[in-house]
Amino acid sequence: MKRSEYHAIVLGSGIGGLVCAAMLTRRGLRVLVLEPGHQPGGSNGVVDREPYRFGLGSSVAWGFHEGDVIHTLLTELGCLDDLLHNHRLIQQLHVPLQVILPYHRLNVYSQRALLYQEVERELGEDLDELRLFYETMDALANLLDRLKVGYPFVGHPAHGIRGSLRRSTAGGALRDCQRQLEHIFTGKVIRPETRAFLAAQARFFGAIPFTPQAIQQLASLYRLPQRGVYTFRGGGWGFAKFLADRVRAFGGSIVYGAGIDDLLLNGSRVMGVRARLEGSPVSLTAEHTVANLSLEFLLTHLLREAPRLGRLKKRFLQARRPWVTVSLLLGVDDAVIPEPMANQALLIPDETLAPEGENLISLSVNPIWDDSRAPAGKRSLLVTTYLPSPQNGIDNLPSVDEEFCQRLLLRLGRVLPFLSSSIEYQAVLQPSDYLEATLRPADDLVRLEGFPQEPGLSGLPLHLGLKNLLLVGSDSYLGPSCAGSVMSGWLAAEAATS
Ligand SMILES: Cc1cc2nc3c(=O)[nH]c(=O)nc-3n(C[C@H](O)[C@H](O)[C@H](O)COP(=O)(O)OP(=O)(O)OC[C@H]3O[C@@H](n4cnc5c(N)ncnc54)[C@H](O)[C@@H]3O)c2cc1C
Repeated sequence: MKRSEYHAIVLGSGIGGLVCAAMLTRRGLRVLVLEPGHQPGGSNGVVDREPYRFGLGSSVAWGFHEGDVIHTLLTELGCLDDLLHNHRLIQQLHVPLQVILPYHRLNVYSQRALLYQEVERELGEDLDELRLFYETMDALANLLDRLKVGYPFVGHPAHGIRGSLRRSTAGGALRDCQRQLEHIFTGKVIRPETRAFLAAQARFFGAIPFTPQAIQQLASLYRLPQRGVYTFRGGGWGFAKFLADRVRAFGGSIVYGAGIDDLLLNGSRVMGVRARLEGSPVSLTAEHTVANLSLEFLLTHLLREAPRLGRLKKRFLQARRPWVTVSLLLGVDDAVIPEPMANQALLIPDETLAPEGENLISLSVNPIWDDSRAPAGKRSLLVTTYLPSPQNGIDNLPSVDEEFCQRLLLRLGRVLPFLSSSIEYQAVLQPSDYLEATLRPADDLVRLEGFPQEPGLSGLPLHLGLKNLLLVGSDSYLGPSCAGSVMSGWLAAEAATS
């Protein structure tokens, strides 16, 4: 067997892994990225169906505000001007999200004044409560920022927040905010459709269930439109490719098609990885092993022999995957997308107004300026909904039939009236296809309760009792989002160089 020495071996080339690798190579360290798939990006993959390209993962992202995590990353990588100014690879969205309820359609504008106008028009009876809600959320987010416990941008020295608070001073104010918010929600102060409107935003910005317990986590996320929501040219895939190019430009290596068999353990210390490169087994040693893999894979395959993990595995497997993803890929004529229509819309078609599972349809439209995903005059439309996840493992993933697709299209036709006559390409992406395309379990909505989580590096190495293993990516950072994965990669790079 060959042996090799690296400062870090990064397992998986999702956003978290690539950010960590880019930061470490930029600092002159020897880094190897092992990717089992054949392209970078993980769940930010693409499906090509000529002449359309459908991006599966992030279509929008946040964290570009000065001092926020992606802005800071790009500054550190020395390419902020390139990305933001010269090449126009990123565009800020004036309307990051549209929420479509049975009898209401609201643009979630970045400017609060415009948002309130929408709310007044559509959900006027609850205008005062909603204003109070957003104002309280902002106050809460400000407090969290100053306490440096907010998500996912604060806590980094580059963040511009000045004048941190003493916890004792902030404690009373925090409790007041929380009481106020709980009063609005648990006291049945607002109507069900207003609650559905807020819950949809919680799902969209944080993939977090809208509960009083989650309010603290959600405070920063509700401020995202104000902070700026952006889209990449080429979607999340464009961002992943950009990061992979950076890793190589800084002297790092990325090997695709790498089989990852085992971690090399010496007692409680992770020494590297046993892998297969071009079919040949190799043992690769590194000072740090950075895992961007799904936690399920890590716990059940790579660490199956590791001691003392039984309880953690059980808790993890119980704590997640309420839903699996299924999507319709539609290539449509530009004219079918009404204006103003956000690049992202959430449709809640059911009278019960519960934004869950099949009752939540997410529309992701490639932006007009992004000709990398659809030819001129055409748009790629990803229509995603969720099915209950099988309890008995991913080998039993549910699948959808023709009738399901027709139902979905019918629901969609109420929002996009000319849709049926302008579909030029149509295909179903089953949960199993998602798995294949992204190498992720098809359940992107991870349920966080009950799982030992801390903001930042999840503390899992601590729980696992394994040294030199750093976890990055959406399973290790609070809530799945591109910005969260960037933050996790950043923190892992800091930890690996400290
Ligand atoms: C449909 C959808 C829409 C989304 N929309 C948005 C959005 O608009 N905005 C936003 O911010 N976020 C969005 N997200 C979430 C965002 O894309 C992810 O949170 C982020 O890309 C995850 O990055 P990661 O670092 O966790 O890596 P991942 O993308 O999860 O990559 C993990 C890496 O590990 C490898 N790997 C994983 N499992 C295995 C295994 N079992 N065996 C071998 N290798 C494995 C993969 O090949 C991959 O390279 C969306 C996600 C989905 C699925």
